Amino acid sequence: MADLNGKVCLVTGAGRGIGHAIAVSMAAAGAQVVVAARSEDELSAVVSEIEEAGGTAAAAVVDLSDRAQTLELYRRASEPYGRIDILVNNAGVGSSADLRPFVDFRDDFWDLTMEVNLHAPYLLSKAALPHMLDRCWGRIITVASINARVAAPHGAAYTASKHGVLGLMRAIATEVSGQGVTANCICPGPVETRMNDIRVRYDAERLGRTLADHEADLTLVGGRLLPVDIAPMAVYLASDAARVITGQAYNIDGGISMA
Ligand code: NAP
Repeated sequence: MADLNGKVCLVTGAGRGIGHAIAVSMAAAGAQVVVAARSEDELSAVVSEIEEAGGTAAAAVVDLSDRAQTLELYRRASEPYGRIDILVNNAGVGSSADLRPFVDFRDDFWDLTMEVNLHAPYLLSKAALPHMLDRCWGRIITVASINARVAAPHGAAYTASKHGVLGLMRAIATEVSGQGVTANCICPGPVETRMNDIRVRYDAERLGRTLADHEADLTLVGGRLLPVDIAPMAVYLASDAARVITGQAYNIDGGISMA
């Protein structure tokens, strides 16, 4: 198992779903974890869960659709343990929040999706990177999506934002290689979370299929993945064992994409 003792990790969108699983796994590997999202009750529950398991965690309530709050988050999240060594950009707005064909797209939803899915990882990475470079050690891990590689119908903003964040991690990796800092993406396929539940129901209806039939065919391994299927890759990418892995994007998608 990876040893993250002595490391401090910030996970955005850690109140539930994939971010929750990553935060708990980072703490189990020894990291001190700062969990961030809007829902204070969910963050408190994650902090309690980590502490009850013997780990260390703190919460930072933030709305990443608000640029001023995003710009403040790095400073606030650094306060509890003095720094951030591992930044996990996980918070996201799903296409499921406003599913519609491209011709009917709402411009304000496009802007919201870009703000949370692309601009927040950009701003948080820019805030964290100089400190990581000073210490010659850092990890930036962004939870993109299989839609960073293939498009999702009726989700133009989501697809564009996830393609964008993959490019962002590659650009950062190119500039900081050889200095102890890596930047990578994880590209999950459909995972059982609140965000994806809505998408799956919408697609089943759109395609005129039963929910059970549609869900069963979503991956080669059958059905959807679980948040705990994603977390081990994040812990690995954060570890010293992954020091030479940078600018990469790992599909964890049950075999949907083999590119
Ligand atoms: P989820 O269960 O709905 O969790 C989303 C998390 O993001 C929540 O903690 C939410 O907290 C936070 N968040 C959303 N908007 C935010 C905002 N404006 N400010 C701060 N935090 C915000 O969804 P999930 O499926 O775990 O998604 C996590 C990441 O995985 C996303 O980037 C998503 O695109 C990606 N992903 C998911 C799937 C999937 O099938 N589930 C597949 C590929 C990629 P609050 O609502 O409390 O703010």
